[in-house]
Amino acid sequence: MAFHRTYIADLLGAMDKDLALGVQSELATLIGPCVSDLYEGNWVYFADATTKAGAHECLVYFMPPGRSIVLQSPKLPKGDFELGGDQGGNTNPNSGACEVYVKWKDAKTLARLAFHELLHNRLKLGNTLHKEDGLRTGGVITSATKLTDGNKRDMAKGIKQPVPQWSDGIILMTNGFHDPMSEFYKP
Ligand SMILES: [Zn+2]
Repeated sequence: MAFHRTYIADLLGAMDKDLALGVQSELATLIGPCVSDLYEGNWVYFADATTKAGAHECLVYFMPPGRSIVLQSPKLPKGDFELGGDQGGNTNPNSGACEVYVKWKDAKTLARLAFHELLHNRLKLGNTLHKEDGLRTGGVITSATKLTDGNKRDMAKGIKQPVPQWSDGIILMTNGFHDPMSEFYKP
């Protein structure tokens, strides 16, 4: 058994260092019990320009409020799927692309929002994910929202099946830093 890996991609620096470290630790705490039957343990890493997440790994982007990388992912859902249905994040389940908006400077809340978006991502579900079961809720997620046994089983199921994660958003942003035509340009 190996260790499971989850990547936090905060290429635009939406979080300061303390907040990022808090989210890293909270997210590891949430995912740990989900993968305990499948892996020796789990790590949450910060993605860099060269990160490519594997099909059983998890990748979640953290974005400043008002910015989206998921909306640039391929095969955006139409019809039943509603991008922007969640208050604190977004997922394109067709492409394995998900993101959290750093609207709250609270690590527990942000980690729970990331877990929720990763459930959409790994289970390839739009709004049908939502039911009143802890972190599957379609309602408001707070620092107190519980990780239920059902949530753990759902995440385990999602991680067990191969779901390619959309790592190309990392390249889009890092290349964009040097491209005056890109919305990510950093002069
Ligand atoms: Zn949702």
